[in-house]
Formats: sequence, structure tokens, C-alpha cells
Amino acid sequence: MSILTTQQKTDLKSLTKEELQAFCKELGLPRFRTDQIFQWLYQKGVSSFEEMTNLSKDLRAKLEEVATLNRISVAAQQQSSDGTIKFLFKLNDTDKDYKVEAVLIPDFYPDGVAKRLTVCVSSQVGCVFGCSFCATGKMGFFRNLTHGEVVDQVQYINSVSEEAYGKKITNIVYMGMGEPLHNYKTVVNSASIIADPLGIDLSPKRITVSTVGLTKQIKQLADDEEPFNLAISLHAPSDTKRDEIMPINSSMNLESLEEAVRYYHRKTERPVTYEYLLFDEFNDTPEDARNLAKIVNWAPSKVNIIMYNNVAGVALHRAREERLDNFLKALIRQGVRATVRRSRGDDIDAGCGQLAIREGAPKGKTIAK
Ligand code: SF4
Repeated sequence: MSILTTQQKTDLKSLTKEELQAFCKELGLPRFRTDQIFQWLYQKGVSSFEEMTNLSKDLRAKLEEVATLNRISVAAQQQSSDGTIKFLFKLNDTDKDYKVEAVLIPDFYPDGVAKRLTVCVSSQVGCVFGCSFCATGKMGFFRNLTHGEVVDQVQYINSVSEEAYGKKITNIVYMGMGEPLHNYKTVVNSASIIADPLGIDLSPKRITVSTVGLTKQIKQLADDEEPFNLAISLHAPSDTKRDEIMPINSSMNLESLEEAVRYYHRKTERPVTYEYLLFDEFNDTPEDARNLAKIVNWAPSKVNIIMYNNVAGVALHRAREERLDNFLKALIRQGVRATVRRSRGDDIDAGCGQLAIREGAPKGKTIAK
């Protein structure tokens, strides 16, 4: 159905670039107008048609008549002593007070100049998968974000990054609130806008999509030839231990994950990264290191060992330094490429597994353990 014959206004940020092009064509606009509008939406992050100053007054009035333009707003911002900045964004639902968090994590050269500026974005309000160590999982699931809402987080943080650190963001990870591949279309559409030269203009090589291990969607990424990096939140190297902390493992166990990873690598020839939160005396033994080394052999890959930021009410704790050392040495002896990601934003609850909206919000849906 024609967009212009419907009574309802079109939400421009719900359209992909191709759909925006079709929309502009229906309005009788030349191709370059799509590019201009796209840039206003995603590169400049305007909140109204009025601000699109290189469009004629008549065109802005026409857009006002047939389209809407929503933008998420910043409800709070907190800076950690290590430079990490956490953002609380309010979404535009009229009847709900939905919020999501995102984080800017800077890495510095010894002289204090920013080297890498990584944004961790949210893709859902809450999460259905209920991993036992994760504050977001405790909220339950409320709704998917749209691609516009994901790009808004990035666009806003990009401007803060320039102001605070004199440099645009350099990397994006979909590791905030929500399971990214459970909201596949939004993640793929937002990542392509982030990579678009008229969007955020970040190389796809610097965009990483993480998953708890949704096997069908991992294969889909390969089939769709998506150019982004894949990270798998593994966190335990055996079914017995994974079952204990990640309910998803009961329906998608390590055998099915292995099949999906091998498929992904056969088709894309790209390596994968395993994210591994190291928990004290849970997944940090020599046997765990041996099991992890076997998993790493499924396909070319590396391991990011993440030092857990303790979450209130969670029985698992960050591994002690000597256990980390021994675990790392055991991995290296077995030829595993492993790096350690130190805890960041601890003092503002901005670390891995810590993102959640507290304020006594009601609980959403969750999968049974
Ligand atoms: S770790 Fe990821 S998948 Fe698991 S509950 Fe948290 S947000 Fe969801």
C-alpha cells in the first residue's frame, strides 16, 4: 500500500535506507534528498523536521504532515573514575516508562590521550534469557528496540565522545541490555546504518554482535553475509556448568553451538570471539581451561576473559587474581589466543552483566530454567 494514501503518519526511523528511498520517491523527491534526510536522522541526530535546514520550507512542512520523527532522550549520565561513562536513555512509549542503558568505555595511551572508544549498546528492554549472573536477565523481557533507537544511542554517545575525549567512537559492541540476535532485524539494520558513510561511518570490522548462542541466527548471519564480527557469550566450557548459569543451554547445548560455529566459519571464513566471564571457583579450574581449549578448536577463534563485576544477589563472584593467572597460563600452554578484559566502570555499575534498570520496575517475561 502506498505510504501516502494511508491515514497514519510514517515513522521515518522505522524505515531501512531502501524503504526511506521508496518513501522519498513517493513524495516525488530526487535521490539526493534521501541521502540528506538519512544524514539528518542518523549522522546529525535531529529531533524535528524543522532542524533539517538544507530542505526547503515546503518540504519540511510536507514531511511534518506525512511522517513522524522520534528520538530517544538522555535521562541520566554517570562517569566512572576510570573514564567510563554510563548513559540512561528514555524511550518514547507514551504509556510506558521504558529505559535502557549504554556505556562508553575509553582506553587511553600512557599520555592520557584516548586510544580506543568503545560503545556498548542495548538492543532490548530487559532480556528473556535469564542468565543467573546478569542483572538485565533478572528484569525479564519487555520489548525489542527499533533500529532507530539503537542508532540514537550510538549517535548521542558519539557526540559525547568527541566532547569528552576529543575523538569519535572507534568500536561498537552489541553487549548491553538484551540478547542481540533475539532482535535480529533491528541489530542487522542498525549495524548497517552505523557502518553507512552517511550514518555513523564506522567500519563493519569495528562492529561486534554478541550472542548467548542462538544457533539459528548465527547461521542466518552467515547466510546473509553480514560483515560484522561475531562474539559468543560462552561463560562455561561444559554443558553441566553452562546449564547451571545459562538456561538457554538446555535447548541449545554445546553440541548444537559447535555445529552453528563450524557452519558460520565455513561460510564466512571469519574467526569468532568467545566471551568468558571468569567466576571464582566455578569456571576457572585447569579442567575448565582444557575444555575451553577444545571449544576454541571448533574454528579459528580467540577468547576474551572478562573480569566479572559482582552483581548484588548473585552467588558467583569475580575470580581472584592468582586463579586468573593460572587459568590464563593453562590456556596459553594449550595454544589458545586469550586476552583479559579488566573490569571497567565498576563504581557506576557499568560492567558486563551489571546493566539493569532498578527503581523497583515490574518484572518482564523470562525463559524457564
Ligand atoms: S547475559 Fe545477555 S542473554 Fe543472558 S540474561 Fe543477560 S542480557 Fe540476556
